[in-house]
Amino acid sequence: MTRVVLVGPPGAGKGTQAVALSGKLGVPHISTGDLFRKHVSEETELGVQAKRYMDAGELVPDSVTNGMVRQRLAEDDAQRGFVLDGFPRNTAQAGELESMLAEYGAKLDAVLELKVDTEEVVQRLLARGRTDDTEDVIRNRQNVYHTETAPLLEYYADRLITIDGLGDVDEISARALDALNAFTGGS
Ligand code: AMP
Repeated sequence: MTRVVLVGPPGAGKGTQAVALSGKLGVPHISTGDLFRKHVSEETELGVQAKRYMDAGELVPDSVTNGMVRQRLAEDDAQRGFVLDGFPRNTAQAGELESMLAEYGAKLDAVLELKVDTEEVVQRLLARGRTDDTEDVIRNRQNVYHTETAPLLEYYADRLITIDGLGDVDEISARALDALNAFTGGS
C-alpha cells in the first residue's frame, strides 16, 4: 500500500516519473492535469469551467478541483494506493486531501519532490508544445508554483523526500524508487 504525492515545478518531469513509479509500485497514476484535460476534450461542464484557468496557467478553483479528486480517489483501484501528480497544489488542497484520506482511515506515506533548475524547466516546456505552453503562460505557471505550491514542501516536511530531477529518465525513476523504499521501509 503506497500513497505518494509528487511535487515539483511544471516541467520537472512529474508526469513521466509518476507513470514510471505507478508501474513499479502497482498503484494507479492520478494526474489532475490529465483529468482536467479529459473533461475539457469531452466538453463537460467541469471542463468548460476549468479551461479558462488552465489556458491562463492559473489554478482551477479548489471548489472544482477537490470534488474531482474526491471522486477519483473513491474508485476501486485507488484503494490500493496511488501516485498523485499535480494535486495538492496548495495547502488548502493538502488539508482537503488529508480529510479525504482520513475517511478511509488512511494517510499519505510520502511526498516526493523533483528538484530542478527553473531555466531548464522553461526550456523543457517550450519544447513540449502543449496549447498552454506559450512563454507567458509557462512563466505564470512557474510563479503560481512558487507562491502557491512550494509552501507544501514545508507543510509536508515530516514526509518529504527530495531528489534531483535532472538527468536520464530511467536513472531518476530508479533514484525515486530507492529513496521511496528507504523512506517507507519497502523492499
Ligand atoms: P498539469 O498537467 O499538472 O501541469 O496541470 C495543467 C493545468 O491544470 C494547471 O496549469 C492548472 O490550471 C490545472 N490544474 C491541475 N492540477 C490542479 C490542481 N491541483 N489545482 C488547481 N488546478 C490544477
